[in-house]
Amino acid sequence: MALRSLKKGVIYGPVHSKRLGRSLGLNILPPDRKVCTFDCVYCHYGHTVVQPFELPEPRFIEEELREYLSEEPEIDFITFAGHGEPTLHMDFLEIVKRVKKLRDEMAPNVKIALLTNASKLSRPDVAEACELIDSPICKLDAGDEETFKRISRPNSRIYLEDIISGIRATPRAMIQAMIVEGSATNATDEQIKSLVNAIREAKPTFVQAYSIDFPFPEGSLMPAPNEKLERIARVIKEETGIDSEAYWESK
Ligand code: SF4
Repeated sequence: MALRSLKKGVIYGPVHSKRLGRSLGLNILPPDRKVCTFDCVYCHYGHTVVQPFELPEPRFIEEELREYLSEEPEIDFITFAGHGEPTLHMDFLEIVKRVKKLRDEMAPNVKIALLTNASKLSRPDVAEACELIDSPICKLDAGDEETFKRISRPNSRIYLEDIISGIRATPRAMIQAMIVEGSATNATDEQIKSLVNAIREAKPTFVQAYSIDFPFPEGSLMPAPNEKLERIARVIKEETGIDSEAYWESK
């Protein structure tokens, strides 16, 4: 099983991303484990295991970021990401407020992004935090409940319709859809039709259909071919009018 190593601290990178440029990662979850409401079949951090954990304090996160920004690094984005779902931090709103204040003081040209699986967007404090974020980027890999359960493997209290309405209620939300083939696929014509319908309902500002050039943790999964990603992005654009692109790592 090929897994990415877990982040050692709050700050990592910057990593280069086509959409975000030089993106400084913030992992506000525990340094030694993945914490998530999903257990995606393709997750590079291994299976989700439910265990007690301790979270870094908002003040500690702020101090780490302050120290980093004091060196005047060349970055384009500060991105809440890491190994898991950042909105699971119970003080997510306070952390976003502190990060935004620091950004405004020390790096006003840098934008703030969030990579989220969108499972907590209906929580009022998370919704309020998302309004402060320049680029909320939401995962949506399926448009029907069966595929959602097979690919994203959410915990039992999470439903696709809530994810879609959460994205719709989030200002400036973008969608990233990971497309996979093999033992668990979300790439059949029927599944893509449902995904397009869900995207139409969620009304994001932009959609990226992507796959990755990295060994999948479950050996019988495969990345979707580039031509298929191009076709899916084209269909999304034609059917919904929402700007869409296909992306793969070597593009
Ligand atoms: S949402 Fe992200 S961190 Fe969570 S299981 Fe899926 S890929 Fe892994």
